[in-house]
Amino acid sequence: MSQPLLVTDAGLARTPVFERITGLIPRAPVFTEVEPNPTERNVLAGVAAYQQHRCNGIVGLGGGSPLDAAKAIRLKITHELPLAEYDDLRDGARLISAHVPPYIAIATTSGTGSEVSRSTVITLTETNRKTVVFSPHLIPTLAIADPELTLDLPPHLTAGTGMDAFTHNVEAYISKGYQPVCDAIALSGTRMVWESLPRAMANPRDMEARSAMMMASMMGAIAFQKGLGAAHSLAHPLSSECGMHHGTANAVVLPFVLEFNRQAAADRMRDLAAQCGGGEIADQVRELNHRVGIAPRLREYGVAENSLPALAAKAIQDGCHQLNPRPCTQDDLLGMYRTAW
Ligand SMILES: [Zn+2]
Repeated sequence: MSQPLLVTDAGLARTPVFERITGLIPRAPVFTEVEPNPTERNVLAGVAAYQQHRCNGIVGLGGGSPLDAAKAIRLKITHELPLAEYDDLRDGARLISAHVPPYIAIATTSGTGSEVSRSTVITLTETNRKTVVFSPHLIPTLAIADPELTLDLPPHLTAGTGMDAFTHNVEAYISKGYQPVCDAIALSGTRMVWESLPRAMANPRDMEARSAMMMASMMGAIAFQKGLGAAHSLAHPLSSECGMHHGTANAVVLPFVLEFNRQAAADRMRDLAAQCGGGEIADQVRELNHRVGIAPRLREYGVAENSLPALAAKAIQDGCHQLNPRPCTQDDLLGMYRTAW
Protein backbone atom coordinates (compact mmCIF):
# COMPACT_ATOMS: atom_id res chain seq x y z
CA MET A 1 0.00 0.00 0.00
CA SER A 2 1.71 3.18 -1.16
CA GLN A 3 -1.21 5.61 -0.87
CA PRO A 4 -3.45 4.62 2.08
CA LEU A 5 -6.56 6.53 3.12
CA LEU A 6 -6.38 7.12 6.89
CA VAL A 7 -9.91 6.72 8.29
CA THR A 8 -10.59 8.06 11.80
CA ASP A 9 -13.01 10.40 13.59
CA ALA A 10 -12.83 14.10 14.39
CA GLY A 11 -12.34 13.52 18.13
CA LEU A 12 -9.36 11.24 17.65
CA ALA A 13 -7.84 13.62 15.10
CA ARG A 14 -7.17 16.01 18.01
CA THR A 15 -5.20 13.49 20.10
CA PRO A 16 -1.48 12.66 20.40
CA VAL A 17 -2.22 9.12 19.13
CA PHE A 18 -3.32 10.63 15.82
CA GLU A 19 -0.10 12.69 15.68
CA ARG A 20 1.97 9.54 16.16
CA ILE A 21 0.22 7.67 13.36
CA THR A 22 0.26 10.55 10.85
CA GLY A 23 3.95 11.01 11.68
CA LEU A 24 4.50 7.50 10.29
CA ILE A 25 2.43 8.05 7.12
CA PRO A 26 2.72 11.82 6.58
CA ARG A 27 1.48 11.83 2.98
CA ALA A 28 -1.67 9.76 3.57
CA PRO A 29 -4.93 11.63 2.92
CA VAL A 30 -7.03 11.78 6.10
CA PHE A 31 -10.78 11.14 6.26
CA THR A 32 -12.39 12.11 9.59
CA GLU A 33 -16.12 12.26 8.73
CA VAL A 34 -17.11 9.24 10.83
CA GLU A 35 -19.96 9.77 13.29
CA PRO A 36 -20.06 7.95 16.66
CA ASN A 37 -22.52 5.43 15.19
CA PRO A 38 -21.30 5.34 11.58
CA THR A 39 -23.84 5.86 8.82
CA GLU A 40 -24.13 4.92 5.18
CA ARG A 41 -23.54 8.61 4.35
CA ASN A 42 -20.15 8.46 6.16
CA VAL A 43 -19.24 5.35 4.21
CA LEU A 44 -20.09 6.87 0.82
CA ALA A 45 -18.15 10.04 1.68
CA GLY A 46 -15.16 7.84 2.55
CA VAL A 47 -15.41 5.99 -0.76
CA ALA A 48 -15.44 9.37 -2.57
CA ALA A 49 -12.31 10.48 -0.65
CA TYR A 50 -10.56 7.20 -1.48
CA GLN A 51 -11.30 7.62 -5.18
CA GLN A 52 -10.48 11.32 -5.25
CA HIS A 53 -7.01 10.68 -3.79
CA ARG A 54 -6.46 7.52 -5.90
CA CYS A 55 -5.72 5.45 -2.79
CA ASN A 56 -4.73 1.79 -2.88
CA GLY A 57 -5.36 0.73 0.72
CA ILE A 58 -6.95 1.79 4.00
CA VAL A 59 -5.60 2.42 7.49
CA GLY A 60 -8.38 2.58 10.13
CA LEU A 61 -7.57 4.26 13.44
CA GLY A 62 -9.92 4.39 16.40
CA GLY A 63 -12.62 2.56 18.28
CA GLY A 64 -15.43 0.59 16.73
CA SER A 65 -16.90 3.45 14.72
CA PRO A 66 -13.88 4.36 12.55
CA LEU A 67 -12.79 0.71 12.27
CA ASP A 68 -16.27 -0.40 11.17
CA ALA A 69 -16.65 2.57 8.81
CA ALA A 70 -13.26 1.75 7.26
CA LYS A 71 -14.39 -1.86 6.77
CA ALA A 72 -17.53 -0.74 4.95
CA ILE A 73 -15.56 1.77 2.84
CA ARG A 74 -13.20 -1.04 1.91
CA LEU A 75 -16.15 -3.19 0.84
CA LYS A 76 -17.80 -0.43 -1.19
CA ILE A 77 -14.59 0.37 -3.14
CA THR A 78 -15.01 -2.84 -5.15
CA HIS A 79 -18.64 -3.84 -4.45
CA GLU A 80 -21.17 -1.67 -6.23
CA LEU A 81 -24.54 -2.76 -4.84
CA PRO A 82 -26.22 -0.56 -2.21
CA LEU A 83 -25.06 -1.44 1.34
CA ALA A 84 -28.54 -2.79 2.20
CA GLU A 85 -27.96 -5.64 -0.27
CA TYR A 86 -25.07 -6.91 1.86
CA ASP A 87 -27.21 -7.05 5.04
CA ASP A 88 -26.48 -10.24 6.98
CA LEU A 89 -30.24 -10.75 7.44
CA ARG A 90 -30.50 -11.12 3.65
CA ASP A 91 -27.50 -13.47 3.60
CA GLY A 92 -25.48 -10.67 2.01
CA ALA A 93 -22.18 -12.51 2.61
CA ARG A 94 -22.77 -14.56 -0.57
CA LEU A 95 -22.32 -11.32 -2.58
CA ILE A 96 -18.97 -10.40 -0.98
CA SER A 97 -15.74 -11.52 -2.67
CA ALA A 98 -12.09 -11.43 -1.61
CA HIS A 99 -11.54 -8.62 -4.10
CA VAL A 100 -11.13 -5.76 -1.59
CA PRO A 101 -8.17 -3.42 -0.98
CA PRO A 102 -5.72 -4.12 1.90
CA TYR A 103 -6.78 -2.76 5.30
CA ILE A 104 -4.70 -2.15 8.44
CA ALA A 105 -6.86 -1.71 11.56
CA ILE A 106 -5.33 0.10 14.56
CA ALA A 107 -7.46 -0.15 17.71
CA THR A 108 -7.50 2.75 20.18
CA THR A 109 -10.17 1.32 22.49
CA SER A 110 -10.68 -2.07 24.12
CA GLY A 111 -14.29 -2.76 23.18
CA THR A 112 -15.56 -3.86 19.80
CA GLY A 113 -12.62 -5.96 18.70
CA SER A 114 -13.53 -4.80 15.20
CA GLU A 115 -9.84 -5.18 14.34
CA VAL A 116 -10.17 -8.98 14.42
CA SER A 117 -13.81 -9.50 13.43
CA ARG A 118 -15.51 -10.06 10.11
CA SER A 119 -18.50 -7.84 10.78
CA THR A 120 -19.24 -4.16 10.39
CA VAL A 121 -22.29 -2.34 11.79
CA ILE A 122 -23.56 0.63 9.78
CA THR A 123 -26.78 2.65 10.18
CA LEU A 124 -28.50 2.65 6.79
CA THR A 125 -30.05 5.88 5.51
CA GLU A 126 -33.31 4.32 4.33
CA THR A 127 -34.27 2.52 7.55
CA ASN A 128 -32.18 4.32 10.21
CA ARG A 129 -31.48 0.81 11.45
CA LYS A 130 -28.08 -0.50 12.52
CA THR A 131 -27.32 -3.15 9.95
CA VAL A 132 -24.73 -5.89 10.26
CA VAL A 133 -22.61 -6.90 7.26
CA PHE A 134 -20.71 -10.10 7.83
CA SER A 135 -18.05 -11.76 5.67
CA PRO A 136 -14.68 -13.44 6.24
CA HIS A 137 -13.33 -11.13 3.50
CA LEU A 138 -13.94 -8.15 5.80
CA ILE A 139 -11.40 -9.30 8.43
CA PRO A 140 -8.61 -6.68 8.35
CA THR A 141 -5.41 -7.66 6.54
CA LEU A 142 -3.44 -6.65 9.63
CA ALA A 143 -4.58 -5.74 13.15
CA ILE A 144 -2.48 -3.59 15.47
CA ALA A 145 -3.68 -4.00 19.03
CA ASP A 146 -1.30 -1.96 21.16
CA PRO A 147 -2.61 -1.24 24.68
CA GLU A 148 -0.32 1.78 24.91
CA LEU A 149 -2.73 3.55 22.53
CA THR A 150 -5.53 3.21 25.13
CA LEU A 151 -3.69 4.75 28.10
CA ASP A 152 -5.27 8.19 27.61
CA LEU A 153 -8.81 6.95 26.96
CA PRO A 154 -11.21 9.00 29.14
CA PRO A 155 -12.99 7.11 31.98
CA HIS A 156 -16.50 7.06 30.45
CA LEU A 157 -15.10 5.52 27.24
CA THR A 158 -12.93 3.04 29.14
CA ALA A 159 -16.10 1.95 30.99
CA GLY A 160 -18.45 1.91 27.98
CA THR A 161 -16.10 0.16 25.57
CA GLY A 162 -14.94 -2.24 28.30
CA MET A 163 -18.54 -3.25 29.02
CA ASP A 164 -19.05 -3.83 25.30
CA ALA A 165 -16.15 -6.31 25.39
CA PHE A 166 -17.70 -7.90 28.50
CA THR A 167 -21.11 -8.20 26.80
CA HIS A 168 -19.54 -9.80 23.71
CA ASN A 169 -17.93 -12.51 25.81
CA VAL A 170 -21.04 -13.10 27.94
CA GLU A 171 -23.56 -13.14 25.08
CA ALA A 172 -21.30 -15.32 22.93
CA TYR A 173 -21.03 -17.86 25.74
CA ILE A 174 -24.80 -18.24 26.21
CA SER A 175 -25.77 -17.87 22.54
CA LYS A 176 -27.26 -20.90 20.81
CA GLY A 177 -25.12 -23.18 18.73
CA TYR A 178 -22.29 -25.65 19.22
CA GLN A 179 -18.92 -23.90 19.20
CA PRO A 180 -16.76 -25.06 22.16
CA VAL A 181 -13.68 -23.18 20.91
CA CYS A 182 -15.52 -19.86 21.09
CA ASP A 183 -17.03 -20.90 24.46
CA ALA A 184 -13.59 -21.38 26.01
CA ILE A 185 -12.39 -18.02 24.73
CA ALA A 186 -15.59 -16.31 25.92
CA LEU A 187 -15.32 -17.65 29.49
CA SER A 188 -11.72 -16.54 29.77
CA GLY A 189 -12.53 -13.13 28.25
CA THR A 190 -15.37 -12.65 30.74
CA ARG A 191 -13.00 -13.22 33.65
CA MET A 192 -10.37 -10.88 32.22
CA VAL A 193 -12.83 -7.98 31.95
CA TRP A 194 -14.24 -8.68 35.41
CA GLU A 195 -10.74 -8.50 36.89
CA SER A 196 -9.15 -5.79 34.75
CA LEU A 197 -11.79 -3.20 33.92
CA PRO A 198 -12.11 -1.84 37.49
CA ARG A 199 -8.29 -1.71 37.66
CA ALA A 200 -8.08 0.27 34.40
CA MET A 201 -10.73 2.64 35.78
CA ALA A 202 -8.90 3.14 39.08
CA ASN A 203 -5.52 3.61 37.45
CA PRO A 204 -5.80 4.52 33.73
CA ARG A 205 -2.06 4.03 33.18
CA ASP A 206 -2.00 0.48 34.60
CA MET A 207 -0.35 -1.16 31.58
CA GLU A 208 -1.13 -4.68 32.75
CA ALA A 209 -4.85 -3.93 33.11
CA ARG A 210 -4.95 -2.09 29.78
CA SER A 211 -3.20 -5.05 28.10
CA ALA A 212 -5.70 -7.51 29.57
CA MET A 213 -8.58 -5.32 28.37
CA MET A 214 -7.17 -5.11 24.84
CA MET A 215 -6.84 -8.88 24.78
CA ALA A 216 -10.33 -9.45 26.26
CA SER A 217 -11.75 -7.14 23.60
CA MET A 218 -10.21 -9.24 20.82
CA MET A 219 -11.34 -12.43 22.56
CA GLY A 220 -14.91 -11.12 22.71
CA ALA A 221 -14.90 -10.37 19.00
CA ILE A 222 -13.46 -13.79 18.18
CA ALA A 223 -16.02 -15.49 20.45
CA PHE A 224 -19.01 -13.62 19.04
CA GLN A 225 -18.38 -15.04 15.60
CA LYS A 226 -20.51 -17.76 17.21
CA GLY A 227 -23.36 -15.32 17.82
CA LEU A 228 -24.65 -12.64 20.20
CA GLY A 229 -28.04 -12.23 21.83
CA ALA A 230 -30.89 -10.00 22.94
CA ALA A 231 -28.69 -7.41 24.68
CA HIS A 232 -27.21 -6.37 21.34
CA SER A 233 -30.65 -6.25 19.68
CA LEU A 234 -31.83 -3.95 22.50
CA ALA A 235 -28.65 -1.85 22.38
CA HIS A 236 -28.60 -1.15 18.63
CA PRO A 237 -31.81 1.02 18.55
CA LEU A 238 -30.72 2.78 21.77
CA SER A 239 -27.74 4.08 19.77
CA SER A 240 -29.40 4.75 16.40
CA GLU A 241 -32.55 6.35 17.91
CA CYS A 242 -31.38 7.80 21.25
CA GLY A 243 -27.66 8.36 20.64
CA MET A 244 -26.53 6.15 23.54
CA HIS A 245 -22.95 4.85 23.48
CA HIS A 246 -23.10 1.26 22.21
CA GLY A 247 -21.18 -0.32 25.07
CA THR A 248 -23.00 1.70 27.73
CA ALA A 249 -26.35 0.62 26.24
CA ASN A 250 -25.24 -3.03 26.41
CA ALA A 251 -24.09 -2.59 30.00
CA VAL A 252 -27.44 -1.18 31.17
CA VAL A 253 -29.64 -3.82 29.49
CA LEU A 254 -27.39 -6.87 30.08
CA PRO A 255 -28.54 -7.72 33.66
CA PHE A 256 -32.19 -7.71 32.53
CA VAL A 257 -31.41 -9.88 29.51
CA LEU A 258 -29.58 -12.35 31.75
CA GLU A 259 -32.61 -12.53 34.06
CA PHE A 260 -34.86 -13.12 31.04
CA ASN A 261 -32.54 -15.97 29.98
CA ARG A 262 -32.08 -17.50 33.43
CA GLN A 263 -34.17 -20.66 32.89
CA ALA A 264 -33.09 -21.17 29.29
CA ALA A 265 -29.37 -21.33 30.07
CA ALA A 266 -29.06 -22.06 33.79
CA ASP A 267 -25.81 -24.07 33.58
CA ARG A 268 -24.13 -21.46 31.43
CA MET A 269 -25.19 -18.70 33.82
CA ARG A 270 -23.46 -20.57 36.65
CA ASP A 271 -20.29 -20.90 34.57
CA LEU A 272 -20.30 -17.16 33.91
CA ALA A 273 -20.96 -16.31 37.56
CA ALA A 274 -18.00 -18.49 38.54
CA GLN A 275 -15.75 -16.22 36.43
CA CYS A 276 -17.10 -13.16 38.24
CA GLY A 277 -16.83 -13.96 41.93
CA GLY A 278 -19.86 -16.31 42.22
CA GLY A 279 -23.49 -15.55 43.09
CA GLU A 280 -26.01 -14.59 40.42
CA ILE A 281 -24.44 -13.37 37.19
CA ALA A 282 -27.07 -10.60 36.71
CA ASP A 283 -26.20 -9.20 40.15
CA GLN A 284 -22.47 -9.43 39.41
CA VAL A 285 -22.97 -7.44 36.20
CA ARG A 286 -24.87 -4.77 38.19
CA GLU A 287 -21.95 -4.68 40.61
CA LEU A 288 -19.43 -4.32 37.77
CA ASN A 289 -21.51 -1.49 36.23
CA HIS A 290 -21.56 0.24 39.60
CA ARG A 291 -17.80 -0.10 40.01
CA VAL A 292 -17.12 1.46 36.60
CA GLY A 293 -19.65 4.27 37.01
CA ILE A 294 -22.44 3.12 34.66
CA ALA A 295 -25.95 4.05 35.87
CA PRO A 296 -28.39 1.15 36.30
CA ARG A 297 -31.38 2.48 34.34
CA LEU A 298 -32.08 3.68 30.78
CA ARG A 299 -34.00 6.73 32.04
CA GLU A 300 -30.71 8.09 33.37
CA TYR A 301 -29.42 8.27 29.78
CA GLY A 302 -32.17 10.51 28.38
CA VAL A 303 -34.27 7.67 26.94
CA ALA A 304 -37.96 8.70 27.00
CA GLU A 305 -40.39 6.12 28.41
CA ASN A 306 -42.87 6.69 25.57
CA SER A 307 -40.17 5.81 23.01
CA LEU A 308 -39.85 2.22 24.28
CA PRO A 309 -42.54 0.63 22.00
CA ALA A 310 -40.90 2.14 18.89
CA LEU A 311 -37.49 0.91 20.09
CA ALA A 312 -38.89 -2.62 20.55
CA ALA A 313 -40.26 -2.50 16.99
CA LYS A 314 -36.69 -1.81 15.79
CA ALA A 315 -35.09 -4.36 18.13
CA ILE A 316 -37.21 -7.23 16.81
CA GLN A 317 -35.87 -6.51 13.30
CA ASP A 318 -32.28 -6.81 14.55
CA GLY A 319 -30.68 -10.16 13.83
CA CYS A 320 -28.67 -10.62 17.05
CA HIS A 321 -31.56 -11.96 19.19
CA GLN A 322 -32.05 -14.88 16.82
CA LEU A 323 -29.25 -16.69 18.66
CA ASN A 324 -30.45 -15.65 22.13
CA PRO A 325 -30.87 -18.82 24.24
CA ARG A 326 -34.55 -17.99 24.86
CA PRO A 327 -36.62 -16.90 21.83
CA CYS A 328 -37.74 -13.25 21.99
CA THR A 329 -41.00 -11.76 20.77
CA GLN A 330 -41.41 -8.02 20.31
CA ASP A 331 -43.36 -8.00 23.60
CA ASP A 332 -40.48 -9.75 25.38
CA LEU A 333 -38.05 -7.12 24.08
CA LEU A 334 -40.44 -4.34 25.17
CA GLY A 335 -40.69 -5.97 28.59
CA MET A 336 -36.89 -5.94 28.95
CA TYR A 337 -36.76 -2.29 27.86
CA ARG A 338 -39.41 -1.42 30.45
CA THR A 339 -37.65 -3.14 33.34
CA ALA A 340 -34.32 -1.64 32.25
CA TRP A 341 -35.96 1.79 32.05
ZN1 LIG B 1 -21.06 -4.74 20.84
